[in-house]
Amino acid sequence: MKLLTTVSELQEFRNSLKDKTVGFVPTMGALHDGHGSLIKRARAENDIVIVSIFVNPTQFLEGEDLDKYPRQLESDREGCVKLGVDAVFVPNVNDMYGENEPKIVADLIKGFILEGKNRPGHFDGMLTIVLKLLNTVKPTKAYFGKKDAQQLLLIEKMVESFFLDVEVVPCELIREKDGLAMSSRNAYLSNEDRENALLIYKGLNYAKMLIVENNEKDVSNLKKEIEKFLEPLSIEYIEVTDRKLNKIDFIEVDNSIILLAVKVGTTRLIDNIWI
Ligand code: AMP
Repeated sequence: MKLLTTVSELQEFRNSLKDKTVGFVPTMGALHDGHGSLIKRARAENDIVIVSIFVNPTQFLEGEDLDKYPRQLESDREGCVKLGVDAVFVPNVNDMYGENEPKIVADLIKGFILEGKNRPGHFDGMLTIVLKLLNTVKPTKAYFGKKDAQQLLLIEKMVESFFLDVEVVPCELIREKDGLAMSSRNAYLSNEDRENALLIYKGLNYAKMLIVENNEKDVSNLKKEIEKFLEPLSIEYIEVTDRKLNKIDFIEVDNSIILLAVKVGTTRLIDNIWI
């Protein structure tokens, strides 16, 4: 497996691939089986697989966890070797960013609600780095998790709006056996936090059960039921939208998402369930 640390190394590698199909999985590292599922799918569907590991500073807000975000390059590299990755791209910040650069403004494509409302500027940084990465890796297909549902939908919109020549592949959200959505930030949870964090999936799952078995479609009722589960946690938002991120009052099966963000202790977690 190749380790590429500069944009020019990446471009040279990319140019050597000629007509081969390239699957790309952008990550911030501290890889877990959620990332692994994206990588496995990319491995199955392409000649070559490239994974990037880059903790992108522009998507962190002042006071967020940029400095303490888990970094474990050695074990990430080993994991990538095991999954048959061809090249890992690990650039440094100065290589990805210059001074006084333009950026993508996510507010114009529903980046101002949900995560965008709670983390203003987060999606500008995210979309800008994803655009830079897509333009350097030039993948045939790029893989993103439904775990970050709003991120996925914004990326799909950016790709469509800028006529980017890549297929975005949405991948299922992967959970621990007990239901907790896998996340690099789970490493921050104390034992007690970890136990409390299980309420998130229990609440989402209960809402799904009410929809499927009791035909409960009223969003305000569903939100109240989820809130009851999340009582010991600090709720940032619980929202229900259609698959284009429009808020809805009634569930439409096969076209709805319940999304939430909570703080468990000091750790901010997001989760969602597609209905
Ligand atoms: P991150 O390293 O957190 O920026 O995530 C990199 C990619 O992995 C994104 O497309 C995420 O949506 C995806 N991802 C993270 N956690 C999961 C998960 N539990 N299940 C599926 N995909 C995930």
